[in-house]
Amino acid sequence: MADKGGRGRLLFFPLPLQGHVTPMLQLAEIFYSKGFSITIIHTRYNSPNPSSYPNFTFLPISDGFSEKKTSELSIFALASILNVNCLDPFKDCLTDLLSGESKVHTTCLISDTVLHFTREVAESFKLPRFVLRTSGVGVFRAFAAIPLLREKGYLPIQASRLEEPVPELPPLRVKDLPVINVPNAEMFYQLIAGLVNEARTSSGVIFNSFEELEQSAVAAVRQEFPTPIFPVGPFHQYFPSASSSLVQPDETSISWLDKQAPKSVIYVSFGSIAAVKENEFLEIAWGLANCKHPFLWVIRPGSIHGSQWLESLPSGFLDMVGERGHIVKWAPQLEVLAHPAVGAFWTHNGWNSTLESICAGVPMICMPCFTDQFVIARYVTHVWKVGVQLDNGLERKTIVEVIRKLMDNEEGEEIRNRVVDFKEKANVSLRHGGSSHGTLENLISCISSS
Ligand code: UDP
Repeated sequence: MADKGGRGRLLFFPLPLQGHVTPMLQLAEIFYSKGFSITIIHTRYNSPNPSSYPNFTFLPISDGFSEKKTSELSIFALASILNVNCLDPFKDCLTDLLSGESKVHTTCLISDTVLHFTREVAESFKLPRFVLRTSGVGVFRAFAAIPLLREKGYLPIQASRLEEPVPELPPLRVKDLPVINVPNAEMFYQLIAGLVNEARTSSGVIFNSFEELEQSAVAAVRQEFPTPIFPVGPFHQYFPSASSSLVQPDETSISWLDKQAPKSVIYVSFGSIAAVKENEFLEIAWGLANCKHPFLWVIRPGSIHGSQWLESLPSGFLDMVGERGHIVKWAPQLEVLAHPAVGAFWTHNGWNSTLESICAGVPMICMPCFTDQFVIARYVTHVWKVGVQLDNGLERKTIVEVIRKLMDNEEGEEIRNRVVDFKEKANVSLRHGGSSHGTLENLISCISSS
């Protein structure tokens, strides 16, 4: 291992959302282990916990937010505002940092593709900029195709065309396209176009993915895209890392799992942002109650529209399921997925959750909620075939059928076996001679010569 910091300093700037902060900090750890000195520039909103990373330097910058304001914003509004508010504070931060340049030379910036403002600032300092795209390569390809999809009339999505295949992006159907129902669709399209452009104009795009998983998408993007791409994931598999959780996980999740039979538990979590309507929440609750499997269910406060936390649960529900169900506000997800009692993950298919499930060899029940999650769910069910999708509305009867198909029936056996194969492929990709191992070496050479 090289001397810590001997290879120069890398600056990292994550988008302050759980699904973006986690992979950025994991990537920083990977580079630290390769001999780079690490500085994390971050907003005050959703600030990571510096005490979990004693080897890194943390530099907070102003984002102009108050807590109250951010809780009312959609993630797209939040990202758009950050792109305006952080420009000057980031410039000031780099001025201080680079003018005080002494022992350690700053090699480059690695910023989230959503933080568009970092480009002009990095250019003004002649600082090479790589970007981290925190979702899959297949998703990136679908995002890059949005202008074409609009031109061809697939977008905006029409209800009558939902089931139609999109031949430009197999195996996606119109209903799998990565869009979101927001009042200002133009703002969403601009944010995505900006993200693609940030990647295009960078020195290289880093993905938390691995070639054995996304072979054809990686090949297509390499052909269609001028910028080098570096799938060097899965990041969380490099080494057990410090917790990048922005919320304290409930450790009773593990003591409860310890009491359950092997592969019997359904772990249910829809990540850090997705929310469900009250009627959907009730169907999920009854589906879990009726399927007879034990379940560990993460219900974030505020993740049911119109409720603070559990008020919408049917009266008597908790008594009825008793010890068979365990509800927490936030779980230590990596530990949960690695636990032998877990037999399936009911997920919204955020990229991190999906990759974590694959690497743990846990098959998925897919319930995508917005944008890239639709694309990822389609890959899970129709490319990797490591899960089943809850389609056509959430109904307790269908939920029970899907759970039984995946966990109990012979029908689900191939799916259960396939995900274990992918778990092994993920491990192989990180070993000497594996694709991510080699790509990381290339990335380090590229960064060191930039
Ligand atoms: N996560 C967790 N505990 C929970 C729920 C989620 O630690 O109870 C973590 C999960 O391991 C993942 C991240 O939060 O790393 C969620 O990222 P993802 O991309 O799956 O979804 P997002 O929150 O961005 O929609």
